Amino acid sequence: MNFYVMTLFPEMIENGMHTSITGRAITKGLLSLTTVNIRDYSETGNGRIDDYPYGGGAGMVMQAEPVYRAYEALKEKIGSSPRLVYLTPQGKVFHQEMAEEFAKEEELVFLCGHYEGIDERVLEEIVTDCVSIGDYVLTGGELPAMVMMDAVSRMVPGVLSNQESGQFESFQDGLLEYPQYSRPGVWRGKEVPEILLSGHHAKVERWRRDQSILRTLHSRPDLLETAEFDKQDRKFLRALLSDEYEVRITEEEKSFLAKLLAF
Ligand code: SAM
Repeated sequence: MNFYVMTLFPEMIENGMHTSITGRAITKGLLSLTTVNIRDYSETGNGRIDDYPYGGGAGMVMQAEPVYRAYEALKEKIGSSPRLVYLTPQGKVFHQEMAEEFAKEEELVFLCGHYEGIDERVLEEIVTDCVSIGDYVLTGGELPAMVMMDAVSRMVPGVLSNQESGQFESFQDGLLEYPQYSRPGVWRGKEVPEILLSGHHAKVERWRRDQSILRTLHSRPDLLETAEFDKQDRKFLRALLSDEYEVRITEEEKSFLAKLLAF
């Protein structure tokens, strides 16, 4: 996977991506990272790439021409026109399935905005995808680009070692992951759930699945609406509803589950 990032702050991207798992993958040649400093394509030659917004208002806007020139130079270097993702709070909100879809590409270009954003005309010309990492506004697109590259990198074969690649992760199967525990068995008086020490593989798997469902019900009930449940899952959901399970759920969660089970 070859990542290209058009940015005003290449050092931020380089420092972030050359750290930890992505850094190791770059060293191994499983990922490559090329940053392009948009300032190098300033029309005035003095590094200035922004100007006041037409129509007035606060802040500055990144001009179309330096972004376009940077893109043209990059396109020539790559020798093709890969998907170009503009990071923007106005884009589609990023999620795991999107990461899986982007991971199928061989090359991905990210365009990071700053200040009030980028002149709309160049965005119309070069952008193929607009992506947001959530409903909040950041100072620039660098962190969102790194979030996307990190999530996409995890899908590239070899990037995660066997130890790091979870057999189950949140959002697989449409559920959040079960809680995790490590040594010591008792930490400040708090014990690891007994079942995890039992060595009974099938019971551990069942417990984990139940915990996933419970956790998703508590934190992201919306995900349960599209998750698929087998007979055992439904049994657990009914036990939750009828207070047979050791953990009690709220009245609000009960009415949500009742509706879910009615379908
Ligand atoms: N004026 C813009 C608006 O209201 O949509 C926000 C500009 S923001 C201050 C500057 C840059 O940060 C954007 O061009 C974008 O690249 C990036 N950015 C900010 N929040 C983001 C988010 N939630 N997701 C992706 N990119 C974001």
